[in-house]
This record gives sequence, structure tokens and C-alpha cells, in this order.
Amino acid sequence: MVKVLVENVSKKYGDTYALREVNMVAEDGALVCILGPSGSGKSTLLRIIAGLLPPDQGRVYFDDVDVTDLPAWRRNVGMVFQSISLFPHLSVYDNIAFGAKLRKMPKDEIDRKVKDLLRLVRLDGYEKRKPRELSGGEAQRVAIARALIIDPSVLLFDEPLGHLDAKLRESLKFEIRRIVKETGKTALYVTHDQSEAFAIADYIYVINKGVIEQGGTPVELYENPKSPFIAEFVGNTNFLKGKVIEINRDEHVAKVLAGDVELFVPMRGDINIGDNVFIGIKPEDIKVSKQVDENIVKKENRYVNVLEGKLLKKIFIGPYLRLEIVIDNLEEPVKADVYGEDRYKYLSMNEGDKVYVLIHKSVAFKHS
Ligand code: ADP
Repeated sequence: MVKVLVENVSKKYGDTYALREVNMVAEDGALVCILGPSGSGKSTLLRIIAGLLPPDQGRVYFDDVDVTDLPAWRRNVGMVFQSISLFPHLSVYDNIAFGAKLRKMPKDEIDRKVKDLLRLVRLDGYEKRKPRELSGGEAQRVAIARALIIDPSVLLFDEPLGHLDAKLRESLKFEIRRIVKETGKTALYVTHDQSEAFAIADYIYVINKGVIEQGGTPVELYENPKSPFIAEFVGNTNFLKGKVIEINRDEHVAKVLAGDVELFVPMRGDINIGDNVFIGIKPEDIKVSKQVDENIVKKENRYVNVLEGKLLKKIFIGPYLRLEIVIDNLEEPVKADVYGEDRYKYLSMNEGDKVYVLIHKSVAFKHS
């Protein structure tokens, strides 16, 4: 097991930066996700850590060893890719044993390891099957076992669930976490899927246009997004545009004029009077009601905002009900999610009904 350290890594293709001054660390034994939209530089970063691509600038360390100039095979990494890359003519046993045979491991040791790995990935009895006789999920388990046979220092996953259907992705992501944790290996896992990263990662780096925008645990990213990009990417957030008209520095709260509505909003970063800001609000942090219950307003913190609007749309998703509400002079409808039994109560509301929107948590970001 090792700690992986990426220091100031940049990579350009032609004139465009695929990565720009990336710094990150995966502690010994941690499962770290690199999360970002398509084209943000995730695979480029993973390939640089694997030794499949040289950086233009910066260093990669495994513990105290500078591996930047070492080729992939000398870094001792195990990789699992999105496309299932098993050898089609070899059995499951021979696919898993492949790396060990190349390293001329004794036969009985290979045999013992393959059996242990089949047990680990829960495929005992599959030794003789060919890849074409495996489901997508089983094939990825074999690929993981194959990556593990060389006892790698680091495990690297590049969108390993990308080609699988939604149901299988849901179960296999937890299996991958279990397997990684059972081996105790340090793992880096690339994905564009926020829910996948949140479900399995100890720590997440969110990357956007080749730059790490923020690192944190899932809860830290969700509760304290540093930028509108992060807020939107991890929280499906409402964004209202506004201008700061007053500031309470002691409490770090701004009074913001959005349309012709005044809102009290906790601030993120350095914000001044006159600044244009985005107000980020998560759909689950909004309550919608036909009347305003003053007790609720008092019970919540004193920066609860109450706005009047009209119900535009109700969308029953299943686990929650999404309401869209038009508020006069705001550019876009506000989205609010209702969970639990309450969602059936709201179904009786009609589109066009007058409603109150109670915002009990929000954050203001400076508009760049
Ligand atoms: P991701 O894995 O997040 O989808 P990539 O790391 O594959 O992103 O790509 C980052 C950026 O670099 C993209 O804009 C992509 O088009 C560009 N890119 C990747 N590989 C090459 C290449 N071999 N030549 C030129 N541009 C590339």
C-alpha cells in the first residue's frame, strides 16, 4: 500500500490544457474518486498516474519515491478500464493468471492466488468459462481480479461501470468498494457520475476543465461547495441571480436583491456590497406551503426567506415529488423537492395555485 501524491501536474494537447497545475493526494488505503464531466481531464490524470502518459510539468510520487519517469510496468499499478478488456480466447482462470505468468510466479502460487481472487470477487467455480460466457458485471469482476494478481501498490479504475446498465452499476459499485477495502489497497477511481462517487469514495476531487475545483468528503462537497460549478454538479441546485445590497460581516450574511425580492443569504468567499452573486439553493432546502406558518419561520434560523409564487408544475419522480414554482421577477422557476408522506399531500395542489416558498438554507457565490 502506498500514498499517491500528484504535484503541480500539467498536460497540454496542442495549445489546450487537458490538465493545469493539478495537486492531489490519495492517502494510504484510501479510495479516492476523480469526478468531473466528460472532457474535464480525468482519464488524462489517471493515465499520468499509471505511467501511460508523461506530464509536461509536475511530479508523481508513490510514498517518497518519485515515479514520474518510471514506465507503467515498473510502477506496479493494477488498472481496470471502462471497456472490458479480457482476452477472449483465454478462460477466466488464464485471464486472471496472465500477469502472474508474465512475472514467472511459481505455478502453485499462481493457482492459490487465482482461487483466492475468485473467492474475493465472488466468482468461485467460473475458472473454465470464456469471456463470452460472462455477463458484463462478471467480466468486470474478472478484470478486477486480473488487476489484483500482481499485488499492485495502487489500483486505478477508469469509469469501470461505464458500459453496464443502471441496475448493475448500482450493485457493482458497492462490490468494488468492498473488494478495494478488503484488499486494503490505495485506489483511484475516475467517474463522471456524482452519485457513484458519493456512494463509494472516502474522498473526492472534482475536476473541471483540467483544474481541480475542490477536494473533500462527499458530505463536505455537498454542504460546503466552493463554487457554483461544484454546487450544481453535486447538488442539482437552484441558482438565482442577484446583487448584494447589504452585508453583515459578523454573521457572514448578505442581503441580496434578486429581481425585486430581498433575500438574506450566508456568503461564501470574499463578497462586497454591489457585487453580482448567484444564490444557490438545494431543492430539498425549500418548503412549499399554501399558508405561511410563522412558527416554522421562527423555529428555523432567522435567515429563512419566504417568497410568494405560483405552482407551475408537479413531477412525481417516485421517492420524491418535484415542484416548480414561478416567482414574479425571477428569471427561472424555483425547484423544490418533497420527500416522504408529504408528497401525496402536495399532489392535490393544482397548477396555478398561489403558494409560499420557504427557503431555509442557501448560499451566495460571487459571480465571476
Ligand atoms: P475525461 O476523461 O474527463 O473525459 P480526458 O482526460 O479524456 O477527459 O480529456 C481531457 C481533454 O483533453 C479533452 O478536451 C480531450 O478532448 C483532450 N484530449 C484527450 N486526449 C487527447 C489526445 N490524445 N489528443 C488531443 N486531445 C486530447
